Amino acid sequence: MDPTLGYAIALGGLFLSLILVNLLHVNRLTYLAYFPSFARNYLHRAWRYLIYPYLVHRHRFLPPFTLADLLSQLIYIAGNSFCLAYGSTIEKAGLRAGTLSLINLTPLFFGPHLSFAADVLGLSLGALRNVHRSAGLVSAGLVMFHTAVAIKSRTGFGLSSIKNVSAVVAGSALGLAVLLSWPPFRRHLYEVFLRFHQTLALLVIISSWLHVPSTRLPRFALYISFAIFGLASLADGWLLVRRSVALTRRKDSDGPRVIEIFKHQGNSDKTPIQLTLLLKEQLKMKAGQYINMWIPSIGFLSRIQSHPFVVTSWTGKRQSYLEFVIEPRGSWTRKLHSRAMTVSGQNGGVHRVFFTGPHGMSPPVDEYEYVFMVASGYGIVAHLPLLERLVQGTRAREVRARRIRLVWEFADVGRSTN
Ligand SMILES: Cc1cc2nc3c(=O)[nH]c(=O)nc-3n(C[C@H](O)[C@H](O)[C@H](O)COP(=O)(O)OP(=O)(O)OC[C@H]3O[C@@H](n4cnc5c(N)ncnc54)[C@H](O)[C@@H]3O)c2cc1C
Repeated sequence: MDPTLGYAIALGGLFLSLILVNLLHVNRLTYLAYFPSFARNYLHRAWRYLIYPYLVHRHRFLPPFTLADLLSQLIYIAGNSFCLAYGSTIEKAGLRAGTLSLINLTPLFFGPHLSFAADVLGLSLGALRNVHRSAGLVSAGLVMFHTAVAIKSRTGFGLSSIKNVSAVVAGSALGLAVLLSWPPFRRHLYEVFLRFHQTLALLVIISSWLHVPSTRLPRFALYISFAIFGLASLADGWLLVRRSVALTRRKDSDGPRVIEIFKHQGNSDKTPIQLTLLLKEQLKMKAGQYINMWIPSIGFLSRIQSHPFVVTSWTGKRQSYLEFVIEPRGSWTRKLHSRAMTVSGQNGGVHRVFFTGPHGMSPPVDEYEYVFMVASGYGIVAHLPLLERLVQGTRAREVRARRIRLVWEFADVGRSTN
């Protein structure tokens, strides 16, 4: 069997098993119960070294990563290198690199929003972002290798054929997408980055289609990407419509709407606001989940933007009111801040809201005896629903927690008087 086919099957199998485990609601911690006790202890100890300590902490130019992250990247790169090298010549490896890059592109087309894909796979948003990042980098590396071998083994490379032009476009678009994803570029103009990134992705997939031969595997990898992206977009769109059915322009419609945007009087432009939504139907969610919110009336560009926010008012029951604490950071949140009122019960003229969710994995706080929480600044809001879950769970004797510690670091801007 061609190793690239084996690789495609293994990758597909990995993602399908993640979906299956998630659909069957198998709690990953309960796997451990099936292991003998010495193996459980060994695994716990290994986790302490692999998963918890960071090799590189949060950095301006690099995302944080652990030993487990490093090992999984090495295994991923080794798998690809093996497929290139196995029973191969340099020309064959060059061709395989092209096919492998298309196979590795598949996880990059898991849908228009990573939130939905993360929910289906049962991964956290951060974990899926890591997968996305690694797949993009490895694909780009394989394309470079494919190009280098093609240049070396051919005498001329004319730009008269569509096949060659599309190769240049696909390679450049992928390279640019990887370069511009570097945190210092991405962070500053996030919305511009996101739209440009999506345009480049479209360019990569269309030009790859024009470039690849119509042999089975490369084309099949593209079909899979199209199919996954199409299905995920439909499901995401359906969720948006289902949650926000009132696709009417009437402000008094029964769709989800903002009923309050509140800020304290005299507070600076940097303090967060409280936003309350009234939903059209009650929603059941887990503690710590978030929604992707889209409020077209905030401004012209907000028509094409959605932003994620954690629901701070988790009650443990189905709820029609959702509360959020939103810190002004960039243009969208600042515009929202400018609409906030200093009297309660006012919505500053902001009405209709569209949203998808609830999204995200709820941290299993009820399964631990010792809970240690760390927050800085307004990051504390993400902990509020988890604390509520611990309080409710303790009363109902549903949680195992015996000791809870919360460390909260915040800047105390004191006033000095002379
Ligand atoms: C899962 C999740 C939950 C969040 N919960 C809260 C919360 O409860 N309260 C709160 O104040 N903030 C929360 N945030 C951050 C909030 O989404 C951003 O501050 C907001 O989107 C900034 O938008 P902006 O246009 O004002 O600023 P921008 O200048 O456009 O963005 C500032 C930064 O916010 C992030 N960001 C912007 N847009 C998005 C997006 N569509 N998707 C993901 N990240 C984005 C980027 O890292 C960007 O660098 C959360 C973020 C995530 C990923």
